[in-house]
Amino acid sequence: MILILKNGATNEQIDHVLARVESMGLQSHLSRGTYRTIIGLIGDESQLSQETLSSIPGVSQVIPVLPPFKLASREAHPESSIINVSGVQIGGGHLAMIAGPCSVEDRDRMYRIAESVCESGANLFRGGAYKPRTSPYAFQGLGEAGLEILRQVGDKFGIPVVTEVTDPRNVELVAQYADMLQVGARNMQNFVLLTEVGKSHRPVLLKRGMSATITDLLMSAEYVLSEGNPDVVLCERGIKSFDPSTRNLFDVAAVPVVQGLTHLPIIVDPSHATGRPDLIPPCALAGLAAGADGVHIEVHDCPEEAKSDGPQALLPEQYQEIAQRMRLMADLLGKTVSPRPSPTSGSSAGSGAPSGASNSNLPPKPPTEALA
Ligand code: PEP
Ligand code: MN
Repeated sequence: MILILKNGATNEQIDHVLARVESMGLQSHLSRGTYRTIIGLIGDESQLSQETLSSIPGVSQVIPVLPPFKLASREAHPESSIINVSGVQIGGGHLAMIAGPCSVEDRDRMYRIAESVCESGANLFRGGAYKPRTSPYAFQGLGEAGLEILRQVGDKFGIPVVTEVTDPRNVELVAQYADMLQVGARNMQNFVLLTEVGKSHRPVLLKRGMSATITDLLMSAEYVLSEGNPDVVLCERGIKSFDPSTRNLFDVAAVPVVQGLTHLPIIVDPSHATGRPDLIPPCALAGLAAGADGVHIEVHDCPEEAKSDGPQALLPEQYQEIAQRMRLMADLLGKTVSPRPSPTSGSSAGSGAPSGASNSNLPPKPPTEALA
């Protein structure tokens, strides 16, 4: 870190700053200018708090040299990470195509939607069983029954599934059914939840909060990484803006900004970013053109009957068309859409992890203490 002292800092203050940083185990390098004195700190800065240093008398500014998201930073890990979600690779030139309805609904409907998006080439199926809704009166999701349906769909079509976990107490339960855990925009800074998904052994899809800066997003990823879970995929899903023309503001520049700062993959979600089916295809392509490692799109076979987010859902045939264009874009960019794992080789939550359940079977019920 670099400390810039206040104009007119006294010799006593300078000596005090030097003594304080020395007591913190750091070496210092003093540079006295005509107007300003600067102190460079050398040593392990990881334990230092910017706040503590700023409150030493005579210190005007503390400038960190390294980013505060140490594990997520590209400095720490120059190569782009490739995250493996039960056989589907994301990052480093491998694209995720995540599709499915906003909420998990009845089984037949889920089968229909999954069949269509699989035919269009999606490699991850999504659907929320626990829905974070603005209104307590709105549909809250099917809960564990929804997780069961999602798992059955994943096993039937050989497609890994991603679903949101909203409550730290449910992480173990959701991880028994899902191949990937989604932390939604509203929970991006739920630090207890981040810590819990960090302890789980499932890859995490971390969505950017609607009022979160890119540093906030990367600090949230750091929570997960620092708990020992290295498998985090970030998602740009639009941020709040003053303009009601779109549901959120699609921050496409966030994609290359994030990629410059971190080795973690980042995908885009034009469904929640725009809230408008007509804007999803161009924004999906814009996201890929900006370098995104995948695209997340909500699809429903009858949007007017959807339990949530119907107005922004693409119909299966609309998804088929944009999926085709995304594949052309991938070719152009020299990237590949990761194929779905063959049903027998997958290591999905249903086919592998919990005590070797077969592909067509549900995972065993979690022990009750897992639910506590
Ligand atoms: C969702 O994926 O359905 C969802 C609620 O997303 P977000 O957290 O981005 O609003
Ligand atoms: Mn949704």
